[in-house]
Amino acid sequence: MFSKILIANRGEIACRIIKTARKMGVATVAVYSDADQDALHVRLADEAIYIGGAPARESYLLADKILEAAKETGAQAVHPGYGFLSENADFARSCAENNIVFIGPPTTAIEAMGSKSAAKNIMEKAGVPLVPGYHGDDQNPELLRAASDEMGYPVLLKATAGGGGKGMRQVWSAQEFDEALAAAKRESLSSFGDETMLVEKYLTKPRHVEVQVFCDTLGNAVYLAERDCSVQRRHQKVIEEAPAPNMSNQLRAEMGETAVQAAQAINYTGAGTVEFLLDEDGSYYFMEMNTRLQVEHPVTEMVTGQDLVEWQLKVAYGEALPLTQKEVRVNGHAFEARIYAEDPSNDFLPVTGTLEFLRPPEESLHVRVDTGVCEGDEVSVYYDPMIAKLIVWDESRERALQRLATSLKDYRIGGTVTNLDFLYNLATSQPFANAEVDTGFIEKHHDLIFHDRQQDFEKELPLAALALLLHKQQQTPTGIKAIDPWSPWQGNGAWRLNEPHIHRLSLHCHQQEHAVEIEQRGALYIACVAGRKTHLRGELIDDVVHFDVDGHRLQGTLASTADGFTLYLSEGACHFYEVMPDTGEADSNEANAGLSAPMNGTVVTLLIEPGIDVEAGTALLVMEAMKMEHTIKAPEDGKVEVFYYAAGDLVDGGAELMQFTPSGEAV
Ligand code: ADP
Repeated sequence: MFSKILIANRGEIACRIIKTARKMGVATVAVYSDADQDALHVRLADEAIYIGGAPARESYLLADKILEAAKETGAQAVHPGYGFLSENADFARSCAENNIVFIGPPTTAIEAMGSKSAAKNIMEKAGVPLVPGYHGDDQNPELLRAASDEMGYPVLLKATAGGGGKGMRQVWSAQEFDEALAAAKRESLSSFGDETMLVEKYLTKPRHVEVQVFCDTLGNAVYLAERDCSVQRRHQKVIEEAPAPNMSNQLRAEMGETAVQAAQAINYTGAGTVEFLLDEDGSYYFMEMNTRLQVEHPVTEMVTGQDLVEWQLKVAYGEALPLTQKEVRVNGHAFEARIYAEDPSNDFLPVTGTLEFLRPPEESLHVRVDTGVCEGDEVSVYYDPMIAKLIVWDESRERALQRLATSLKDYRIGGTVTNLDFLYNLATSQPFANAEVDTGFIEKHHDLIFHDRQQDFEKELPLAALALLLHKQQQTPTGIKAIDPWSPWQGNGAWRLNEPHIHRLSLHCHQQEHAVEIEQRGALYIACVAGRKTHLRGELIDDVVHFDVDGHRLQGTLASTADGFTLYLSEGACHFYEVMPDTGEADSNEANAGLSAPMNGTVVTLLIEPGIDVEAGTALLVMEAMKMEHTIKAPEDGKVEVFYYAAGDLVDGGAELMQFTPSGEAV
């Protein structure tokens, strides 16, 4: 086995690879950029080499720098993870030229799958079923239109160089064709520097089912079951599962064998994924092959009991596959949810921020958390805003799904917006429980998934108020925890000698301000919200609050972050902050929250004229950042006084984009 490998990646996947290498007794070298000086992957590795600036093109995409680091540290092999250089044939070739093993397939296989149309040609010859369509070299628009007319609409135009859902256009009728073709070509040219198109029959209710394949250098090849990744937003996966539900074993085996056939057609070695579209009638079609380890590989590991990174290292070292096809077993069911710093209610806009409070659920045989961050880390503008992958396993789909829901609820993140509530709503929705999945799932069930938790203010506000009081009583005015939390001399509460001990709090919770009065009688508190009284006791130990509400014991976790507090209860999270008399500061901050640039990017277009009254939610400006378009909307009724940037301008993350005046406020 290799004695030392370099991991040409960062974040969760770098950490995940280091774990297996360590288990196998293989030393690891990490690489890091300016933004990752203190990152977890750097701390976990045996050695780490600095490779440059925070933007990936100045560090993680610098093939030469990375190879230099490998040579300098004596690493015998490079694991590229996913993304960055993982599907870069030139990098794989340079590794070989420098006598360093690239832990991945041969350069020729990467190249063969690099173009969607070339890949289709190869697969067609190998007898792998393709979505009906045209993927030839002749790009005459007349020919493309004739092919579409003949197939019948809807069709899908795809950039042959495409990826990440870009350069794709649905065409629903012949009349729309010319315009859609022009738009898809423009997008493809600007994203990939190439405008070659292919056209496919557009399936209206397909599932995305992919097969994990593995081949060694000795001619052995197996498939390790399949994954269903149908639940997608913007053609990107959100929740993945293995095995794919509602599939016969016969279909599974047939797709598995087809996937192996596809891999063998390009003399594949190592880990690969063959992606298929599975139509309602059970027909399936090759879509593309990813020549690397996938983000969602852990669900396959959970149901097969195998460590795919270990397999990768063994195959790269020239060993045989650990199992034959007959020995591969699938046991139980696994889900993976991708936890992102993003705002689902704002078109999944990625957000940045500090992970001020981070408590993942406890890991066990059933629950696995793959992450590359710790409490206090930044989600920066430079990289993918994924915080963690939550993976759960159980004996059946139903039980695994229940684990997923519980673990999502137990996942506590404060300091940045996340998609946790969205994932929870999705995981607990009836259609998902029924496994009625297809690639249109999120759109179709929009109302079920995009809603805030119904809060029970009568129950939660007294708890929130008491948690806040207990928190305050632990703080001295200098911010250092008091030695005796119960001493009236140390707290900054409303205690007065010979006067009733009443605290009056104004809590902003769920877009409303609520007055809460708490009378303190020794260890007993009587909270009054909207005229209703609750008797309760409580104790705050570290960040866990132990409540007793009329004899009913319950626990909550209190997170204190820059923008207020979150009390995590078994029903869900209750976010609140204390409104201080007269300042009103927190409110105005909130009103302006959406009007600064969420990240470094470019202004694409200004959508309204300054000075015109607009309603809350009106789209004001479109930015492009992280290769996606983001719309900045009016946070409330009001008007834009002035835009500080014009279309085409570069903007730094956090910069004010415009002056916005809410209605009723003087300029
Ligand atoms: P990319 O490489 O840009 O990710 P893919 O070809 O992998 O593009 O397709 C991404 C997603 O687009 C698929 O998972 C599926 O949801 C959808 N898709 C692709 N081709 C079709 C098709 N012919 N009909 C319907 N949906 C499709």
